Amino acid sequence: MFVSIRTKLLLMTLSSVIILSSAILYISINEHKRLYIETAAQDFSALAQNISEDLVEYFATNNANDFTLSTRLLQLDKYPYVKFAAITDQSGELVHSYINPNYYSEKLQQTIPFLINAQPNQYSDSLLLRTKIGDDSYKLGQFYLYIDLKKQLAQSQSAFIEKLIPLVIAALVFTFLFNNWLQTTAIRPLLNLTRAVEQVEKGQDYTSVQQIKTHSNDEIKQLTLRVSDMLATINKQQQANKSYTEKLVKQQAELIQLANYDQLTGLPNRKMFMDILSRYIKQVDQQYHAIAVILLDIDDFKTVNEAIGHKNGDKLLLEVTKRLKHLLTEDQVLARIGGDEFAIILPEDKTQGNAVHLCDQIIIKLNKNVHIDSWSLQATVSMGIAHAKPSFYDSGLLLANADVALYKAKQNGRNRYIEFVDAMTAQQERRLQIAAAIKSGLANNEFYLLYQPKVKPEVGVVGIEALIRWNSPTLGMVSPDEFIKIAEQTGKINDITRWVIEVGFHQLQTIQQQFDNSLKVSFNLSSMDIFRPNFVSYLIKALSNPKINTQLIQFEITESAYIENFTIAHNFISKVKHLGCSIALDDFGTGYSSLSYLTQVQADTIKIDQFFVRNLFKSEKDSKVTDAIISLAKKLGMTICAEGVETQQQYNYLNALGVDQIQGYYFSKPVAMSQLSETLKKIDEQLTHIAKQA
Ligand code: C2E
Ligand code: CA
Ligand code: CA
Repeated sequence: MFVSIRTKLLLMTLSSVIILSSAILYISINEHKRLYIETAAQDFSALAQNISEDLVEYFATNNANDFTLSTRLLQLDKYPYVKFAAITDQSGELVHSYINPNYYSEKLQQTIPFLINAQPNQYSDSLLLRTKIGDDSYKLGQFYLYIDLKKQLAQSQSAFIEKLIPLVIAALVFTFLFNNWLQTTAIRPLLNLTRAVEQVEKGQDYTSVQQIKTHSNDEIKQLTLRVSDMLATINKQQQANKSYTEKLVKQQAELIQLANYDQLTGLPNRKMFMDILSRYIKQVDQQYHAIAVILLDIDDFKTVNEAIGHKNGDKLLLEVTKRLKHLLTEDQVLARIGGDEFAIILPEDKTQGNAVHLCDQIIIKLNKNVHIDSWSLQATVSMGIAHAKPSFYDSGLLLANADVALYKAKQNGRNRYIEFVDAMTAQQERRLQIAAAIKSGLANNEFYLLYQPKVKPEVGVVGIEALIRWNSPTLGMVSPDEFIKIAEQTGKINDITRWVIEVGFHQLQTIQQQFDNSLKVSFNLSSMDIFRPNFVSYLIKALSNPKINTQLIQFEITESAYIENFTIAHNFISKVKHLGCSIALDDFGTGYSSLSYLTQVQADTIKIDQFFVRNLFKSEKDSKVTDAIISLAKKLGMTICAEGVETQQQYNYLNALGVDQIQGYYFSKPVAMSQLSETLKKIDEQLTHIAKQA
């Protein structure tokens, strides 16, 4: 049970005041009694003395009769508390008596002698006075006066108490009020403090305690100050905790955002996409009839990104995101699962045509040019579709199938979509087999090099290009067009390049000896090689072999590799050229570049892609581009090599335009080193023949 300090104090003071007043009352009453008895004894002694003196006269005159005596004694009627009076003579014989009828009956008379002889003379509630009549020398008798003390004392006491009680009550009330006031003033700050602390508990308002005003300078003030300090500390701590918690919550939200969403587009990332896909798969049959996944990859994004800058590349991604979002309905999910890779999950109906329909729309929507800064681009995409079949509801497999279809779409010329069919799994398997077999193939010497001559019209073979071949015991002949791409995609290309350099540089020495240092030997490099940090140092070391004449070495780098990272490519080319090697820009014209880009490259030679050669007499536009490339390269003082020349007509045309080197089946397919001498002889004869014809 809660009892406040105030009540306790009040009870304490009240009880002490009551005890105190009771004690005083008790003492006062006792004292009053003592004084009263004393005074009464004095008074009645005087009365008794008086009467005794009067009685002397009666006894002396001897005419004293009963009547006079009783007259005298009857005067005692004035004193209501006199119980009785008695007169005895010298011999102690009762002479006369007076009895107060209020106390005794006449019968009492007989007991009087007994009473007056009794000792002591004062009973607890009565007083017996004995007075001599006459003096010691002349003793006449005794006068007895018996007085009732009890009654008169009781009366006097009640009168006394009546006067005392209001005083006591007044004192009590005053004490109570004064105490109350005193305690209230003393305790008020404590009560305020209690209330303020309650407030803190309820409302978490830590400032209310500071507002408590204490005028007194006592423990309560100290306590208030301490509590205030303590609460201020708690408050501070709480504030700190609060902001810390807020920070944590924010960080957590950011972490969730970071872990699940792509920062640029705000779309779900790969991880979240897989989670959502699993959820969708679970809902097939219940909520959806079927679902499909579309994997979408922006064509040539890497090249575009380098050309227009990363910032603009991001803008392009955002624009693609915007356009895709525009096409999607609410139950379709778009995610960005890689740099330029997006994925869509969509529910399908019975015909399973929803994904195809969406892909058609995407192609139309994305084929509209995108304007970023001064650039006007067409961001085409390749897409792979995979339908979730009731037989397999595995999110990973579904995505892998979409990926196979996407790969196929890219192979088939981009800006298109392809639906996954089971047959593709076989192709995918081959891809995986090839990737897996490369390493052991290199170790087991399953690879070898062929060389294709480059012919200077009317002069002869001036160079050869090293081209790799792979005869795998398990896979058979694998075309470099196939395995180089796979090697690049699976990070194995550098192993191949190192093998080519090692074997090629070794054979180079034999070739140069055989042909009197008259042939320039070209080696193909992948963009992956150039961007590999220690590749340059590796190459420098390989080229530092004193038996190698670096002047007779050329590296072919594709135009797109150059564009992918201009700075790194530039740096690489500078270093290689510094060692005496030359650089050819391979597959020129197929990449993204504009012609003006030619003025900025450091290549010595450009190799016009086979595509243009093939189209020389088929497409007027392509032949015009070829003319333009040739004339610009000539103006820039570059050597021009045309690839894939298969006919005399092509040869004549290119020769007329002043192309420096011709490479193609027209002169020779790539041949083994051992056949080079014979091939070169044949080509010489062919040139003689051509000259004769002219
Ligand atoms: P590329 O560098 O453009 O090589 C020219 C390709 O065209 C060679 O194919 C060659 O055999 C072929 N070719 C030459 N003349 C003609 C012709 O008149 N008609 C036709 N239809 N084709 C012709 P290959 O050897 O199959 O190589 C294909 C590609 O593989 C090469 O294209 C090159 O990009 C890559 N490659 C080949 N060897 C290596 C290598 O050692 N390292 C690297 N990184 N890539 C290589
Ligand atoms: Ca080449
Ligand atoms: Ca080429």
